[in-house]
Amino acid sequence: SITVRNLVKRYGQLEVVHSISLDVADGEFVSLLGPSGCGKTTTLRCIAGLEDASGGSISIDGKIVSEPEKNVLVPTYSRDIGMVFQSYAVWPHMTVAKNVAFPLSVRGVSSDEIRRQVDEALGIVGLTELKDRYPSQLSGGQQQRVALARAVIGKPKVLLFDEPLSNLDAKLREGTRVEIRRIQRRLNVAALYVTHDQEEALTMSDRVIVMKSGHVMQAGKPRELYHEPVNRFVGDFVGTAS
Ligand code: ATP
Repeated sequence: SITVRNLVKRYGQLEVVHSISLDVADGEFVSLLGPSGCGKTTTLRCIAGLEDASGGSISIDGKIVSEPEKNVLVPTYSRDIGMVFQSYAVWPHMTVAKNVAFPLSVRGVSSDEIRRQVDEALGIVGLTELKDRYPSQLSGGQQQRVALARAVIGKPKVLLFDEPLSNLDAKLREGTRVEIRRIQRRLNVAALYVTHDQEEALTMSDRVIVMKSGHVMQAGKPRELYHEPVNRFVGDFVGTAS
């Protein structure tokens, strides 16, 4: 699970996230939806530990990983999270298997255990046959699966996504949405998914959190947002085709 309470993020004098609170339960898939610059990515990066929060608290699986007022700051690699980003960030000089193994190899896990977990992760995303290939020999969709396998290796408690489909063509995007949900359900992890695409958020998510200018405007089930927007902004943003 993810619990965020009164998260604040400032860059110097500029406050870009204003006291945001949110929860994602185990097994739940929640989207963070909003226009460009509203603070979605910053919120996600604070949860991942890629940015230091300025205030509030963040817990993963019940354990506080960030609370600046108490000088608590757990580094990314100890947060029990898997991440998938817009650019898949697979390393071109490593095979598929080596790419997927990377998070475990830097943690000093034994090579037998790594092999076992790589096979399992590749099985989950359906890439077993391609494990000795290099990224340049894969399609964009297959490369994104490598990134997915790398995110799920080691069975993290939380999966974080930042616009993971934006580099894929429309046809592939559809299939990858289904794939991401299948994997997330199978692992029964809490997932937080950043997107500016309302259709993607509404079709994929158990709940959607709509942000504007560093504030949460509304959080609810897709149909609630669609049928009962709390204000004009949410109504326009959720109801309008991208
Ligand atoms: P997008 O979908 O375009 O990525 P976003 O909703 O994810 O948008 P953020 O990337 O979180 O928005 O940015 C929120 C605000 O913080 C923006 O106004 C941005 O300009 C500002 N910002 C982000 N990173 C920095 C930084 N390193 N220094 C100063 N301001 C920043």
